[in-house]
Amino acid sequence: MADHPLVGGIELGGTKIVLAVGHRDGTIVARTAIPTEAPQQSLPQLIAFFAAWRGRLCGLGVAAFGPIVIDPAAAGYGHLLATNKPGWSGFDLVGSLARALGLPIRLVTDVGAAGIAEARLGALRGAPLGIYLTVGTGIGGAILIDGDIAPALLHPELGHLPLQRHPDDGFASTCRFHDCCAEGLAAGPAIQARFGSALNAFREGSDEHRLICDYLGQLCAHLTLALSPHRIVIGGGVAQAPGMIPETLRAMVRHLGGYATPHTPLDDYLRSPTFGQDAGIAGALLCAPG
Ligand SMILES: [Zn+2]
Repeated sequence: MADHPLVGGIELGGTKIVLAVGHRDGTIVARTAIPTEAPQQSLPQLIAFFAAWRGRLCGLGVAAFGPIVIDPAAAGYGHLLATNKPGWSGFDLVGSLARALGLPIRLVTDVGAAGIAEARLGALRGAPLGIYLTVGTGIGGAILIDGDIAPALLHPELGHLPLQRHPDDGFASTCRFHDCCAEGLAAGPAIQARFGSALNAFREGSDEHRLICDYLGQLCAHLTLALSPHRIVIGGGVAQAPGMIPETLRAMVRHLGGYATPHTPLDDYLRSPTFGQDAGIAGALLCAPG
């Protein structure tokens, strides 16, 4: 790999920032992680890491939490929008990095980067149109076309699609914007508030397990009807509970009601991700320009 150009990658997360130097095939040569503090504290540490590689990097891929303006043609490109993370609201992330490091930069969302990693090297490989979902503290999603993120005005917010409530479900949504969106009904905080513990505390086939799978299956049915993807990958902490994928698949088929059921082998239609915790930083390296 010595002849291959080196690139930098940054995964800006809510609690930590992962920094890496590697190749555009996602392989990592060096990496570290620093806690996410205000930009005034985090940025100098970040710059110090890449300073050791000065002159050897030809581009930087940045995978960032949102909300952030990712359209290079839009006003405010690379700026964080209002966020509850101290110091980051309005911060010019791309401009600050470009001035400090002097590298061409491509910015994607953290979910988008993970989706790119799955599409090019993981469980969405070979799917011309794929959907990556992550179900954890929220529900995020990315739409991948031929290994890259579908062009969009902002970025998709698949987790906020509305779902039909189960008739016996009177639980208050944890989303402060919507009373019946997928994230508000079925993400980690909703599960914790509703049941008093994480989903893996309940056995497969229990009412708790079936309800959450039913909601995620409904979400997959919506995505199937709207986009007709070749495959959907579901990652994140909630999706790791035993039996989630097959039960969600059964719920999806039920909600499609016999209409437009994908004619691909269903075991292949809904899958777990290949990448674990490294999806975001691998995706950042994969989309570095230069
Ligand atoms: Zn919502």
